[in-house]
Amino acid sequence: MTIAPLRLLCAFSLAASLTLPAIGQGTPSESQRTGYLRSLAALQPIDAHAHVQKSDVAFTAMLERWNLHLIDILVVDDKEPSGVSLEKQRAAALAFIQSAHGHASLCTTFDPYRFSQPDFVQTAIDGLNRDFANGAIAVKVWKNIGMELKDSSGHYVTVDNPRFDPIFRDIEAHNKTVIAHQAEPDVAWGPPDPKALDASYYAKHPEWNMAKVPDALPKKTILEARDHLLAEHPHLRVVGAHLGSMEADVDQVAATLDRYPNFAIDTGARVAHLTIQPSPKVRAFLIKYQDRVLYGTDIEFMGKTTGNAAVEEWESQLARDWRYFATADTFDYRGHTVHGLNLPPTVLKKIYHSNAVYWFPGVEPK
Ligand SMILES: [Zn+2]
Repeated sequence: MTIAPLRLLCAFSLAASLTLPAIGQGTPSESQRTGYLRSLAALQPIDAHAHVQKSDVAFTAMLERWNLHLIDILVVDDKEPSGVSLEKQRAAALAFIQSAHGHASLCTTFDPYRFSQPDFVQTAIDGLNRDFANGAIAVKVWKNIGMELKDSSGHYVTVDNPRFDPIFRDIEAHNKTVIAHQAEPDVAWGPPDPKALDASYYAKHPEWNMAKVPDALPKKTILEARDHLLAEHPHLRVVGAHLGSMEADVDQVAATLDRYPNFAIDTGARVAHLTIQPSPKVRAFLIKYQDRVLYGTDIEFMGKTTGNAAVEEWESQLARDWRYFATADTFDYRGHTVHGLNLPPTVLKKIYHSNAVYWFPGVEPK
């Protein structure tokens, strides 16, 4: 009985959306949200950036409900107790992938903290090859390379270090893809900014605030090392996570995509950074580079999170991002008024599906 007036209100809001942010434009109604998710499901969406290490019936049902396929990414992180063991993480991710009825693929990794061990390269390659044989489609290199890892003489190791070369050659020889999360948002190198989009992350993870690390490499140096890798391995496919850490300006992303044809980007955890740039500029960027941008959420489902909480997190994020990319609504996106990009259906299909199929051979969406 209370639904009818709400629906009416939403109808008015949609009509008014081009002129002013009207009441009802903040949180979408349940039926609006379901509508966004249904439209998304029709594209057979692939979330190209997810971290799942739990198996759960409600979660798998959500994947089936929205035809959603995940690329499930492993990272070895010595700052998190749960991130230290690659074996345990791999086992948990593979158990999830098995339970997901074809709705997930593995992006594996190697343990970079073994860098100075004499058998580092061969052990890394052996592990990757085992994972490739078990269906892994990609390999993650994480921000600890460039921001944390040091060699035996105390120098930071960047991703273009020649010791990694045989590993990248092996990945290329197996026709697999690298997901490169190099560097962090600009704010990580500046003073803490409580108003920054990623402020809550750095409040929880002050260890990644480079302003507090006296000898930290500048962000520019880390991204130049990433670019050097792209130049040195022109036939290696690399997807730069988080807008390639060039989140502040799509022009910088465009310049890098122009320079390196083997490079694409994912949107993981950075759609908000797009929403604070002018919509016409972002829209033009996404249309021009429609073959090089992959949708990803970067949501985690592990540890104490329940299946229902993970479902809620994915569904609300998928709906919010769909509203931004696919509609012409004016609405609140995490505290900012944004203008939906209203991207053409052909572009949406590429960003949400076809680009992941192209950049990650072997990904098998249901
Ligand atoms: Zn991630």
